[in-house]
Amino acid sequence: MKINKNFLDLEASYLFSTVNKKTREFIASHPSADVIKLSIGDVTKPICPVVIDAMHKAVDEMADAKTFRGYPPEQGYDFVREKILEWDYTKRGIDMKLDEIFLSDGAKSDCGNIGDIFATDNTVAICDPVYPVYIDTNIMNGRKNNIIIMPCSAETGFLPEIPSDDAPVADIIYLCFPNNPTGAVAPKSYLKKWVDYANAHHSVILFDSAYEAFVTEPDVPKSIYEIEGAKTCAIELRSFSKTAGFTGLRCGYTVVPHELVFDGTELNALWMRRQSTKFNGVSYITQCGAAAIYSEEGQKQIQENLSFYRENARLIFEGVTAAGFKAFGGKNSPYVWLQIPEGYTSWSFFDELLEKCQVVGTPGSGFGQKGEGYLRLTGFGSRERTIEAIERIKASFGR
Ligand SMILES: *Cc1c(COP(=O)(O)O)cnc(C)c1O
Repeated sequence: MKINKNFLDLEASYLFSTVNKKTREFIASHPSADVIKLSIGDVTKPICPVVIDAMHKAVDEMADAKTFRGYPPEQGYDFVREKILEWDYTKRGIDMKLDEIFLSDGAKSDCGNIGDIFATDNTVAICDPVYPVYIDTNIMNGRKNNIIIMPCSAETGFLPEIPSDDAPVADIIYLCFPNNPTGAVAPKSYLKKWVDYANAHHSVILFDSAYEAFVTEPDVPKSIYEIEGAKTCAIELRSFSKTAGFTGLRCGYTVVPHELVFDGTELNALWMRRQSTKFNGVSYITQCGAAAIYSEEGQKQIQENLSFYRENARLIFEGVTAAGFKAFGGKNSPYVWLQIPEGYTSWSFFDELLEKCQVVGTPGSGFGQKGEGYLRLTGFGSRERTIEAIERIKASFGR
Protein backbone atom coordinates (compact mmCIF):
# COMPACT_ATOMS: atom_id res chain seq x y z
CA MET A 1 0.00 0.00 0.00
CA LYS A 2 1.19 3.48 -0.81
CA ILE A 3 -0.35 6.65 0.58
CA ASN A 4 -1.47 9.64 -1.47
CA LYS A 5 1.85 11.49 -1.31
CA ASN A 6 0.13 14.76 -2.28
CA PHE A 7 -0.86 15.00 1.38
CA LEU A 8 2.83 15.31 2.27
CA ASP A 9 2.97 18.48 0.15
CA LEU A 10 0.48 20.23 2.42
CA GLU A 11 1.86 22.91 4.66
CA ALA A 12 1.01 22.35 8.30
CA SER A 13 -1.48 24.96 9.46
CA TYR A 14 -0.75 26.28 12.91
CA LEU A 15 -2.86 29.41 12.71
CA PHE A 16 -5.83 28.68 14.97
CA SER A 17 -3.94 26.22 17.19
CA THR A 18 -1.22 28.83 17.82
CA VAL A 19 -3.80 31.56 18.48
CA ASN A 20 -5.46 29.27 21.03
CA LYS A 21 -2.17 28.15 22.58
CA LYS A 22 -0.88 31.71 22.99
CA THR A 23 -4.23 32.80 24.46
CA ARG A 24 -4.23 29.87 26.93
CA GLU A 25 -0.65 30.62 27.97
CA PHE A 26 -1.47 34.30 28.49
CA ILE A 27 -4.43 33.43 30.70
CA ALA A 28 -2.32 30.93 32.66
CA SER A 29 0.31 33.58 33.40
CA HIS A 30 -2.28 36.36 33.98
CA PRO A 31 -5.06 34.58 35.89
CA SER A 32 -7.02 37.77 36.52
CA ALA A 33 -6.91 38.91 32.88
CA ASP A 34 -10.28 39.40 31.21
CA VAL A 35 -9.53 38.25 27.66
CA ILE A 36 -11.86 39.21 24.79
CA LYS A 37 -11.81 37.20 21.56
CA LEU A 38 -12.30 39.25 18.42
CA SER A 39 -10.88 36.24 16.62
CA ILE A 40 -14.11 34.20 16.53
CA GLY A 41 -14.58 32.75 13.04
CA ASP A 42 -17.92 31.18 13.83
CA VAL A 43 -21.42 32.46 14.44
CA THR A 44 -22.46 32.72 18.11
CA LYS A 45 -26.19 33.56 18.02
CA PRO A 46 -28.67 30.69 18.41
CA ILE A 47 -30.67 29.39 15.45
CA CYS A 48 -33.78 31.51 14.85
CA PRO A 49 -37.25 30.27 15.99
CA VAL A 50 -38.77 29.54 12.53
CA VAL A 51 -35.91 27.13 11.81
CA ILE A 52 -36.12 25.46 15.22
CA ASP A 53 -39.91 25.01 14.85
CA ALA A 54 -39.51 23.47 11.40
CA MET A 55 -36.87 21.07 12.69
CA HIS A 56 -38.98 20.05 15.71
CA LYS A 57 -41.83 19.25 13.36
CA ALA A 58 -39.48 17.23 11.14
CA VAL A 59 -38.26 15.22 14.15
CA ASP A 60 -41.86 14.30 14.96
CA GLU A 61 -42.44 13.23 11.36
CA MET A 62 -39.46 10.89 11.63
CA ALA A 63 -41.13 9.25 14.68
CA ASP A 64 -44.27 8.29 12.76
CA ALA A 65 -44.34 5.43 10.23
CA LYS A 66 -46.69 7.46 8.01
CA THR A 67 -44.31 10.42 7.67
CA PHE A 68 -40.93 8.78 8.25
CA ARG A 69 -38.28 9.48 5.57
CA GLY A 70 -35.25 7.41 4.66
CA TYR A 71 -32.43 8.45 2.34
CA PRO A 72 -33.03 11.92 0.97
CA PRO A 73 -32.49 12.65 -2.73
CA GLU A 74 -28.74 13.26 -3.30
CA GLN A 75 -29.41 16.68 -4.81
CA GLY A 76 -31.75 17.72 -1.96
CA TYR A 77 -35.55 17.67 -1.59
CA ASP A 78 -37.48 19.73 -4.14
CA PHE A 79 -39.27 21.61 -1.33
CA VAL A 80 -36.02 23.29 -0.24
CA ARG A 81 -34.45 23.70 -3.68
CA GLU A 82 -37.68 25.30 -4.98
CA LYS A 83 -37.41 27.87 -2.18
CA ILE A 84 -33.75 28.53 -2.94
CA LEU A 85 -34.59 28.96 -6.60
CA GLU A 86 -37.43 31.36 -5.85
CA TRP A 87 -35.87 33.47 -3.07
CA ASP A 88 -32.18 33.54 -3.96
CA TYR A 89 -32.54 33.70 -7.75
CA THR A 90 -35.98 34.25 -9.34
CA LYS A 91 -37.02 37.04 -6.93
CA ARG A 92 -33.70 38.74 -7.67
CA GLY A 93 -34.21 38.58 -11.40
CA ILE A 94 -31.87 35.63 -12.01
CA ASP A 95 -33.14 32.77 -14.11
CA MET A 96 -31.95 29.38 -12.77
CA LYS A 97 -33.34 25.87 -13.05
CA LEU A 98 -34.18 23.50 -10.22
CA ASP A 99 -31.75 20.82 -11.39
CA GLU A 100 -28.90 23.34 -11.38
CA ILE A 101 -29.07 23.54 -7.57
CA PHE A 102 -27.27 20.88 -5.51
CA LEU A 103 -27.88 20.87 -1.77
CA SER A 104 -24.92 19.82 0.39
CA ASP A 105 -23.59 19.66 3.92
CA GLY A 106 -21.81 22.99 3.45
CA ALA A 107 -19.64 25.13 1.24
CA LYS A 108 -16.37 23.81 2.64
CA SER A 109 -17.14 20.32 1.36
CA ASP A 110 -18.24 21.67 -2.02
CA CYS A 111 -15.20 23.98 -2.38
CA GLY A 112 -13.00 20.97 -1.74
CA ASN A 113 -14.91 18.30 -3.64
CA ILE A 114 -15.59 20.30 -6.81
CA GLY A 115 -11.95 19.74 -7.81
CA ASP A 116 -12.84 16.07 -8.46
CA ILE A 117 -14.55 17.00 -11.75
CA PHE A 118 -11.56 18.87 -13.22
CA ALA A 119 -8.39 17.43 -14.78
CA THR A 120 -5.30 17.44 -12.59
CA ASP A 121 -3.25 19.43 -15.10
CA ASN A 122 -5.44 22.54 -14.98
CA THR A 123 -3.86 25.72 -13.63
CA VAL A 124 -5.62 27.09 -10.57
CA ALA A 125 -5.65 30.79 -9.64
CA ILE A 126 -6.02 31.44 -5.91
CA CYS A 127 -5.90 34.70 -3.92
CA ASP A 128 -3.38 35.50 -1.19
CA PRO A 129 -4.53 36.00 1.58
CA VAL A 130 -7.16 33.28 1.33
CA TYR A 131 -9.51 30.79 2.97
CA PRO A 132 -7.01 27.86 3.05
CA VAL A 133 -9.45 25.20 1.77
CA TYR A 134 -8.95 26.17 -1.89
CA ILE A 135 -5.19 25.67 -1.82
CA ASP A 136 -5.07 22.58 0.36
CA THR A 137 -7.71 20.64 -1.57
CA ASN A 138 -5.94 21.38 -4.86
CA ILE A 139 -2.67 20.13 -3.39
CA MET A 140 -4.47 16.94 -2.26
CA ASN A 141 -5.71 16.54 -5.84
CA GLY A 142 -2.14 16.79 -7.20
CA ARG A 143 -2.21 20.40 -8.43
CA LYS A 144 0.60 21.67 -6.17
CA ASN A 145 2.70 22.84 -9.10
CA ASN A 146 -0.24 24.31 -11.03
CA ILE A 147 -1.25 26.95 -8.51
CA ILE A 148 -1.05 30.60 -9.60
CA ILE A 149 -1.03 32.83 -6.53
CA MET A 150 -2.89 36.13 -7.01
CA PRO A 151 -1.56 38.67 -4.50
CA CYS A 152 -4.22 40.95 -3.03
CA SER A 153 -3.12 44.24 -1.53
CA ALA A 154 -4.60 47.44 -0.17
CA GLU A 155 -3.72 49.28 -3.42
CA THR A 156 -6.33 47.31 -5.33
CA GLY A 157 -8.86 47.09 -2.50
CA PHE A 158 -7.77 43.45 -1.96
CA LEU A 159 -9.18 42.53 -5.36
CA PRO A 160 -6.80 40.32 -7.37
CA GLU A 161 -5.65 41.61 -10.74
CA ILE A 162 -7.08 39.91 -13.79
CA PRO A 163 -4.21 38.07 -15.55
CA SER A 164 -2.78 39.87 -18.58
CA ASP A 165 -2.91 38.23 -21.98
CA ASP A 166 0.76 37.18 -21.86
CA ALA A 167 0.40 35.55 -18.43
CA PRO A 168 -0.28 31.79 -18.18
CA VAL A 169 -4.02 31.10 -18.51
CA ALA A 170 -5.84 30.49 -15.24
CA ASP A 171 -8.12 27.52 -15.99
CA ILE A 172 -9.84 27.43 -12.61
CA ILE A 173 -10.31 30.69 -10.69
CA TYR A 174 -11.38 30.80 -7.05
CA LEU A 175 -13.07 34.05 -6.02
CA CYS A 176 -14.72 34.78 -2.68
CA PHE A 177 -16.69 38.00 -2.14
CA PRO A 178 -17.48 39.36 0.42
CA ASN A 179 -14.05 38.04 1.29
CA ASN A 180 -12.77 36.03 4.19
CA PRO A 181 -10.35 37.23 5.64
CA THR A 182 -10.12 40.78 4.20
CA GLY A 183 -13.82 41.73 4.24
CA ALA A 184 -13.34 43.11 0.71
CA VAL A 185 -16.29 43.21 -1.67
CA ALA A 186 -16.22 43.13 -5.46
CA PRO A 187 -18.30 45.60 -7.47
CA LYS A 188 -20.20 44.37 -10.52
CA SER A 189 -17.90 46.17 -12.95
CA TYR A 190 -14.91 44.30 -11.51
CA LEU A 191 -16.58 40.88 -11.56
CA LYS A 192 -17.63 41.52 -15.16
CA LYS A 193 -13.93 41.63 -16.07
CA TRP A 194 -13.39 38.20 -14.55
CA VAL A 195 -16.44 36.80 -16.32
CA ASP A 196 -15.17 38.19 -19.62
CA TYR A 197 -11.71 36.74 -18.94
CA ALA A 198 -13.13 33.32 -18.10
CA ASN A 199 -15.39 33.22 -21.15
CA ALA A 200 -12.53 34.35 -23.42
CA HIS A 201 -10.12 31.73 -22.07
CA HIS A 202 -12.66 28.94 -21.50
CA SER A 203 -11.90 29.00 -17.77
CA VAL A 204 -14.22 28.27 -14.88
CA ILE A 205 -14.81 30.61 -11.94
CA LEU A 206 -15.62 29.03 -8.58
CA PHE A 207 -17.48 31.80 -6.79
CA ASP A 208 -17.69 31.35 -3.02
CA SER A 209 -20.48 33.61 -1.81
CA ALA A 210 -20.71 32.26 1.73
CA TYR A 211 -21.03 35.84 3.00
CA GLU A 212 -23.60 37.13 0.50
CA ALA A 213 -26.17 37.60 3.27
CA PHE A 214 -24.00 40.36 4.75
CA VAL A 215 -24.29 42.47 1.61
CA THR A 216 -26.47 45.56 1.99
CA GLU A 217 -25.20 47.86 -0.76
CA PRO A 218 -26.97 47.68 -4.13
CA ASP A 219 -23.83 47.74 -6.30
CA VAL A 220 -22.33 44.75 -4.46
CA PRO A 221 -23.53 41.53 -6.10
CA LYS A 222 -24.81 38.71 -3.91
CA SER A 223 -24.53 36.25 -6.76
CA ILE A 224 -22.04 35.91 -9.62
CA TYR A 225 -25.06 35.32 -11.89
CA GLU A 226 -25.96 38.99 -11.53
CA ILE A 227 -23.09 39.44 -13.98
CA GLU A 228 -23.94 39.00 -17.64
CA GLY A 229 -22.19 35.99 -19.13
CA ALA A 230 -21.55 34.24 -15.81
CA LYS A 231 -23.69 31.20 -16.62
CA THR A 232 -21.22 29.98 -19.21
CA CYS A 233 -18.22 30.24 -16.87
CA ALA A 234 -19.19 30.20 -13.19
CA ILE A 235 -20.15 27.79 -10.45
CA GLU A 236 -21.55 29.40 -7.29
CA LEU A 237 -21.01 27.99 -3.79
CA ARG A 238 -23.31 29.08 -1.00
CA SER A 239 -23.86 28.22 2.60
CA PHE A 240 -26.47 28.54 5.34
CA SER A 241 -23.62 28.76 7.86
CA LYS A 242 -23.14 32.51 7.99
CA THR A 243 -26.56 33.31 6.49
CA ALA A 244 -28.63 31.52 9.13
CA GLY A 245 -26.16 30.30 11.74
CA PHE A 246 -25.99 26.72 10.40
CA THR A 247 -22.29 26.12 11.18
CA GLY A 248 -23.30 23.34 13.57
CA LEU A 249 -26.30 22.09 11.54
CA ARG A 250 -24.45 21.82 8.19
CA CYS A 251 -26.17 22.86 4.99
CA GLY A 252 -25.16 24.70 1.85
CA TYR A 253 -25.65 24.47 -1.88
CA THR A 254 -23.80 24.73 -5.16
CA VAL A 255 -25.19 26.02 -8.44
CA VAL A 256 -23.93 24.42 -11.66
CA PRO A 257 -25.68 25.91 -14.73
CA HIS A 258 -26.32 23.68 -17.75
CA GLU A 259 -24.54 26.26 -19.90
CA LEU A 260 -21.20 25.15 -18.43
CA VAL A 261 -19.93 22.87 -21.16
CA PHE A 262 -16.28 21.85 -21.33
CA ASP A 263 -14.77 19.16 -23.56
CA GLY A 264 -18.30 18.65 -24.89
CA THR A 265 -19.57 17.70 -21.42
CA GLU A 266 -21.91 19.51 -19.03
CA LEU A 267 -20.29 20.17 -15.67
CA ASN A 268 -23.78 19.77 -14.20
CA ALA A 269 -23.80 16.09 -15.26
CA LEU A 270 -20.31 15.51 -13.84
CA TRP A 271 -21.17 17.12 -10.51
CA MET A 272 -24.44 15.12 -10.35
CA ARG A 273 -22.43 11.94 -10.91
CA ARG A 274 -19.81 12.93 -8.35
CA GLN A 275 -22.38 13.80 -5.69
CA SER A 276 -24.66 10.82 -6.25
CA THR A 277 -21.63 8.51 -6.03
CA LYS A 278 -19.90 9.98 -3.00
CA PHE A 279 -22.60 11.89 -1.10
CA ASN A 280 -25.88 10.63 0.34
CA GLY A 281 -27.64 13.90 0.99
CA VAL A 282 -28.44 16.28 3.83
CA SER A 283 -30.63 15.11 6.72
CA TYR A 284 -34.36 15.72 6.24
CA ILE A 285 -34.50 17.61 9.53
CA THR A 286 -31.77 20.03 8.45
CA GLN A 287 -33.40 20.53 5.05
CA CYS A 288 -36.69 21.45 6.76
CA GLY A 289 -34.76 23.95 8.87
CA ALA A 290 -33.08 25.45 5.79
CA ALA A 291 -36.39 25.75 3.91
CA ALA A 292 -37.88 27.68 6.85
CA ILE A 293 -35.64 30.72 6.33
CA TYR A 294 -37.38 31.30 2.99
CA SER A 295 -40.51 33.07 4.26
CA GLU A 296 -41.16 36.69 5.21
CA GLU A 297 -40.87 35.77 8.88
CA GLY A 298 -37.77 33.60 8.31
CA GLN A 299 -36.00 36.39 6.42
CA LYS A 300 -36.87 38.85 9.17
CA GLN A 301 -35.47 36.55 11.85
CA ILE A 302 -32.16 35.78 10.11
CA GLN A 303 -31.73 39.48 9.33
CA GLU A 304 -31.89 40.25 13.05
CA ASN A 305 -28.79 38.14 13.69
CA LEU A 306 -27.04 39.36 10.54
CA SER A 307 -27.66 43.01 11.49
CA PHE A 308 -26.27 42.31 14.92
CA TYR A 309 -22.98 40.94 13.50
CA ARG A 310 -22.87 43.72 10.90
CA GLU A 311 -23.25 46.35 13.60
CA ASN A 312 -20.43 44.75 15.62
CA ALA A 313 -18.18 44.85 12.57
CA ARG A 314 -19.11 48.48 11.96
CA LEU A 315 -18.32 49.37 15.58
CA ILE A 316 -14.94 47.62 15.35
CA PHE A 317 -14.13 49.41 12.10
CA GLU A 318 -15.13 52.83 13.51
CA GLY A 319 -13.34 52.14 16.78
CA VAL A 320 -9.98 51.07 15.37
CA THR A 321 -10.12 53.89 12.82
CA ALA A 322 -10.77 56.37 15.65
CA ALA A 323 -7.78 54.86 17.49
CA GLY A 324 -5.60 55.82 14.51
CA PHE A 325 -5.40 52.49 12.71
CA LYS A 326 -5.99 51.97 9.04
CA ALA A 327 -8.61 49.30 8.52
CA PHE A 328 -10.53 47.67 5.68
CA GLY A 329 -13.76 45.69 5.43
CA GLY A 330 -16.36 46.00 8.17
CA LYS A 331 -19.09 46.73 5.61
CA ASN A 332 -21.14 44.05 3.84
CA SER A 333 -19.00 41.66 5.88
CA PRO A 334 -18.46 40.45 9.46
CA TYR A 335 -14.70 40.97 9.09
CA VAL A 336 -12.44 43.94 9.75
CA TRP A 337 -8.95 43.72 8.26
CA LEU A 338 -6.70 45.82 10.46
CA GLN A 339 -3.47 47.15 9.02
CA ILE A 340 -0.95 46.88 11.82
CA PRO A 341 1.47 49.70 12.59
CA GLU A 342 4.97 49.75 11.19
CA GLY A 343 7.55 47.88 13.19
CA TYR A 344 5.29 44.93 13.91
CA THR A 345 4.63 41.62 12.19
CA SER A 346 1.18 40.07 12.32
CA TRP A 347 2.30 37.83 15.18
CA SER A 348 4.23 40.46 17.17
CA PHE A 349 1.18 42.73 16.97
CA PHE A 350 -1.06 39.84 18.00
CA ASP A 351 1.16 39.54 21.14
CA GLU A 352 1.10 43.30 21.74
CA LEU A 353 -2.70 43.45 21.50
CA LEU A 354 -3.03 40.52 23.88
CA GLU A 355 -0.55 42.03 26.39
CA LYS A 356 -1.83 45.60 26.28
CA CYS A 357 -5.58 45.11 25.74
CA GLN A 358 -6.21 41.41 26.46
CA VAL A 359 -7.83 41.30 23.02
CA VAL A 360 -7.32 38.36 20.65
CA GLY A 361 -7.24 38.83 16.87
CA THR A 362 -6.21 36.47 14.07
CA PRO A 363 -2.81 37.19 12.49
CA GLY A 364 -3.22 37.92 8.79
CA SER A 365 -0.04 36.05 7.91
CA GLY A 366 -1.91 32.83 8.76
CA PHE A 367 -4.03 33.37 5.61
CA GLY A 368 -1.03 33.68 3.28
CA GLN A 369 2.17 35.68 2.81
CA LYS A 370 0.27 38.76 1.66
CA GLY A 371 -1.69 38.69 4.90
CA GLU A 372 1.49 39.69 6.71
CA GLY A 373 1.05 43.15 8.21
CA TYR A 374 -2.64 42.62 8.97
CA LEU A 375 -4.85 41.23 11.71
CA ARG A 376 -8.41 39.96 11.23
CA LEU A 377 -11.04 41.08 13.74
CA THR A 378 -14.56 39.66 13.63
CA GLY A 379 -18.06 40.85 14.47
CA PHE A 380 -19.23 37.48 15.82
CA GLY A 381 -18.81 38.37 19.51
CA SER A 382 -21.32 39.86 21.94
CA ARG A 383 -22.10 43.57 21.72
CA GLU A 384 -20.93 44.29 25.23
CA ARG A 385 -17.57 42.52 24.82
CA THR A 386 -17.01 44.02 21.39
CA ILE A 387 -17.51 47.54 22.76
CA GLU A 388 -15.26 46.76 25.72
CA ALA A 389 -12.50 45.54 23.36
CA ILE A 390 -12.78 48.72 21.27
CA GLU A 391 -12.56 50.91 24.39
CA ARG A 392 -9.40 49.11 25.44
CA ILE A 393 -7.85 49.46 21.99
CA LYS A 394 -8.67 53.18 21.97
CA ALA A 395 -7.20 53.62 25.47
CA SER A 396 -3.97 51.80 24.60
CA PHE A 397 -3.35 52.95 21.03
CA GLY A 398 -5.52 56.03 20.55
CA ARG A 399 -3.86 59.39 20.14
C1 LIG B 1 -17.45 29.97 6.56
C2 LIG B 1 -17.02 29.86 5.15
C3 LIG B 1 -17.63 28.95 4.28
C4 LIG B 1 -18.79 28.10 4.74
O1 LIG B 1 -18.43 26.83 5.04
P1 LIG B 1 -19.52 25.77 5.49
O2 LIG B 1 -18.84 24.48 5.22
O3 LIG B 1 -20.72 25.96 4.66
O4 LIG B 1 -19.77 26.00 6.95
C5 LIG B 1 -17.22 28.89 2.96
N1 LIG B 1 -16.25 29.70 2.50
C6 LIG B 1 -15.66 30.62 3.29
C7 LIG B 1 -14.63 31.52 2.71
C8 LIG B 1 -16.01 30.70 4.64
O5 LIG B 1 -15.40 31.60 5.43
